[in-house]
Amino acid sequence: MTTPKRPTVDLSSCSKCGGCIEVAPEIFRFSESVGYLEVCDLDYYDADKVEEAMKFCPENCIYWEEE
Ligand code: SF4
Repeated sequence: MTTPKRPTVDLSSCSKCGGCIEVAPEIFRFSESVGYLEVCDLDYYDADKVEEAMKFCPENCIYWEEE
C-alpha cells in the first residue's frame, strides 16, 4: 500500500493570491490565525485538483511533498 501524496506550499514564495483556494477550496485554505496559506489535513488528495492548482499558481510554489 502506498502512502497518499500530500501537497505542500512553499510559503516563502506564496503571494497569497488565493488562486489555489479558488481551484481547490477543499484542499487549500487561508489560515487567518497565522496569516498564511495552509494545506487541509485530508486522507486523500485529488491529484487532478492539486495539479490544476499547481498550474494556476502564479508563483509555482505548490509541489508534492517528498516522502
Ligand atoms: S496559488 Fe500559489 S501563490 Fe497563490 S495563494 Fe495559492 S500557493 Fe500562494
